[in-house]
Amino acid sequence: MFYTIVVAKKIPNQYDGYNMRATFANIYMGNLRNNIEQVQGKLSPGVKLCIPVKADAYGHGAVPVAHTAVDCGADYLAVAAVSEGVELRKAGITLPILVLSLPQPSEFTEIIERHLTPSLCDSELIKMLNVTATAMGRRVPIHLKVDTGMGRIGCSPKEAPDLAKLIFQSQGVSLEGVFTHFAVSDSLLPEDVAYTKRQIETFQRVIQSIRDLGIEPGICHAANSAAVFQYPEAHFDMVRPGLVIYGYYPGDITEEYLNGKNPQAPVHLKPLMDVRSSIVAIKQVKRGESISYGRQWVAQEDCHVGVIPAGYGDGLLRRYGENLQVTINGRLYPVCGRICMDQCMIYLGVDSPVSRWDEVIVFGPREHGALQSAQDIADKAGTISYEITCGIDQRVPRVYKDE
Ligand SMILES: *Cc1c(COP(=O)(O)O)cnc(C)c1O
Repeated sequence: MFYTIVVAKKIPNQYDGYNMRATFANIYMGNLRNNIEQVQGKLSPGVKLCIPVKADAYGHGAVPVAHTAVDCGADYLAVAAVSEGVELRKAGITLPILVLSLPQPSEFTEIIERHLTPSLCDSELIKMLNVTATAMGRRVPIHLKVDTGMGRIGCSPKEAPDLAKLIFQSQGVSLEGVFTHFAVSDSLLPEDVAYTKRQIETFQRVIQSIRDLGIEPGICHAANSAAVFQYPEAHFDMVRPGLVIYGYYPGDITEEYLNGKNPQAPVHLKPLMDVRSSIVAIKQVKRGESISYGRQWVAQEDCHVGVIPAGYGDGLLRRYGENLQVTINGRLYPVCGRICMDQCMIYLGVDSPVSRWDEVIVFGPREHGALQSAQDIADKAGTISYEITCGIDQRVPRVYKDE
């Protein structure tokens, strides 16, 4: 089956799939299914899979990704904001949804009405939620967040048993899970490996200290993408891999590393997204003429320059500069001059075979013809692939493919 759905959330009726802007993103849902299966292949029976779809599923579209996650047997979804959970509920997603960031008290009613699962880590919020839930005649499942070394949100390991008890003794809330998050699980440096192992041990002690009170901690979970592959002992009852689901390898945990370590069970992740555009104009540029704002780029000889209608307003960050190389007819060409908000220029060289309207692949999976991936751009620009795909703006329509 081959289908195409075009989603452009901010401008709902502009794109019908035929009358579309030159710049768009393909999202390969077959690759999503592949990546989910690759992760599932690493889990022991009974370990649940929670798929983070925060930040619009890392830029891929939360609703379509969530539907596919459901089809592939995911047990849980995770979002950062309550509003993201509400979007999924409105789209008919009935799977449990964990809200990873701390909610505002003003969002409690929405959390309860939409059957979202909040993460809480202090007595003030737990008591406030208990009051709201009790008044609504409800009992809200909570996941208790413990900070074992990430330094973000979470109670201290020492506070965890008391908070578990508070939840246990409150009418309006119940303890459905306990979780923590790793700071350096994607690093292979010995001190980082030692740090992660200490986080795992601390978390195990926290779970035990809750059990020692006769309280069942529920679903215990810790593993992000890197830990799914690198620390099987951290799988506990559920894992929360985001990045690998979207087809990228975390930090030092590259494909070469993984498959070198365990050639019997090879892993092959496939990026979901490519961003395409088109050469909408080609011009001849004379030696000495400059291109774009700031006149940073000056032609060293008579040459051709192409224009594509995509810029930082679409998520091609200005700081990528000439590190951004695009694929045209199976060859790489660099950006020349500063990336503008809505357009950027491509250096085509002296005797260019490129013609007007030729397709441009800004980045994407190799299987679909791109010679540069989001990971390549991230490496060159000093960032991570998460930031590249999250940064692709909503005005770039997503075209969903079954491949
Ligand atoms: C984003 C997030 C994840 C997923 O992390 P990846 O590195 O993308 O696998 C898991 N848990 C929490 C708490 C997160 O915020």
